[in-house]
Amino acid sequence: MVNWNDKLAGRTTFMRRSAIREILKLTQRPDIISFAGGLPAPELFPVERIEAATQEIWRRRSSESLQYNTTEGLTELRDWIAARLSRGGVNITRDNILIVSGSQQAIDLVGRVLLDDGDHLVLESPTYVGMLTAWRSYQPRFSVIPTDADGLIVDEYLETVLRQKPKLAYLMPNFQNPQGTTLSYERRVELVKLLAEYDVAVMEDNPYGELRYSGDALPALYELEAQQRGSTKLDGLVVYAGTFSKILTPGLRVGWVAAPEEVIEKLVQAKQGADLQTSTLSQILTYEVCKDGFIDGHIEQLRAVYRERRDVMLAAMERYFPEEARWSRPEGGLFLMVTVPEHIDSGELLKDAIEHKVAFVPGTDFYITGGQNTFRLNYSNAQPDMIEEGIHRLGTLLKEVTVRQVV
Ligand code: PMP
Repeated sequence: MVNWNDKLAGRTTFMRRSAIREILKLTQRPDIISFAGGLPAPELFPVERIEAATQEIWRRRSSESLQYNTTEGLTELRDWIAARLSRGGVNITRDNILIVSGSQQAIDLVGRVLLDDGDHLVLESPTYVGMLTAWRSYQPRFSVIPTDADGLIVDEYLETVLRQKPKLAYLMPNFQNPQGTTLSYERRVELVKLLAEYDVAVMEDNPYGELRYSGDALPALYELEAQQRGSTKLDGLVVYAGTFSKILTPGLRVGWVAAPEEVIEKLVQAKQGADLQTSTLSQILTYEVCKDGFIDGHIEQLRAVYRERRDVMLAAMERYFPEEARWSRPEGGLFLMVTVPEHIDSGELLKDAIEHKVAFVPGTDFYITGGQNTFRLNYSNAQPDMIEEGIHRLGTLLKEVTVRQVV
C-alpha cells in the first residue's frame, strides 16, 4: 500500500473538512427540520426568468457562452456590478472588478495574494468558517476581536491590535455569518479611521448586505474609507467581495471582488493559476437574468419572504426557548445565533436534537477558541410552519437539558 501521508504537503496538516458540510449530509433526511445549512429558499429561485434567459442565450449567444472568456470576467457583467457598487458615490469601474467562482473563491484568492505564512490577521469573533478553511493553511496568527449586538467592538483593544500592524482584517459588516449582527454606523466610521491611521488593509465580505428586513441601510466600509480620504475612487485599503449566491442562486457560482486595480491585477494572476476563469455560461446567464432591473424586484420578494421567516423564528423562540437562552436579533441575512448556559455543549446537544428531528450548526467552528455553548440557526430555508415546529422541538429539548443540569 502506498503511504500518502508521507507524500502530502505539510500545509495539508492545517486543512480540514467543513463540519457544516458534514452536518448538512446528515440533515438531508426528510424527517429532520434543518436549520443547519445556509441555503436560500429554493422555491424562490426565479426559475421562469432563468429559463427564458437560457433560451435567449441559446438563440443569440450560444457559441460565446460555450467558449473561454477572459480571466477578469464578462465585460457587461463587470460593468453592471461596477455601476451598482458606485451608487454610494465611489466611482468604481470594470477595472476594479474581477468575477470569481463564488465569493468563497474571492476569499481564497485574497489569501493567495495577501498572506504570507504566519501573517497576523484580525478577525471578529465569531467569524465565517469558510474563511478559516481557506486561510488556515497559511498558519496565521489570529487576533480575535469580540463582538456584541452592534458587531465588532471598536475600542482600545482593537487599537492595540492595529498598532501591531497586522497584515489584514477580515470583516462582515452586514448580517454576519454566523450571528446575523451588523456593525453600527458609528463603529464603521471609527473603524475606518483606525484602519487608515495604522495602514491596515481590510477584506469586506458582504454576501448578505442586500437582504435587509428592518432598519436603515448603512454605508459600506469601502465607501466610508474613500470618503475619509477625500477620494472618489476605489484606491484605498478595502478589498470588497460580493456574490449572486444569496440574491439569485448559489448554483451558478458567480461572485466578484472589487478592489484597487493593482490588487485586481494580482488576483487575476492567482485566478489564472486556480481555474483560468469563472464559467462563461454562468456569467452570461447571471447577466441576462439580472439586467433591466429584474434583480431589484426579485430582491424585494426575497426580503418579504425572509423577513416573515425571521419574525416567525424569533417569535417561536420567545415562546418555546428556556429563559436561560440568549440570541441575536438580526436585521437581515440568513442566520441568528443562540447562546445557552455554559454547561451545555452544543456538539452534544446536536446529537439529541437529531433524535428530536431538528438540526443546527454547533458554534465552535466559528470560533478560534470557545463557543461550545453556542449554535447557529438558519431561517431562510424552511417554511414558516416548519420553523415554528422545529423551534418547538428545539425549545423542548433545551428545556430538558437546562433542567437536567440544574437537578
Ligand atoms: N462569505 C460568507 C460570509 C458566507 O457566508 C458565504 C457563504 N456561506 C460565502 C462567503 C461564500 O459564498 P459563495 O461562494 O456562494 O458566494
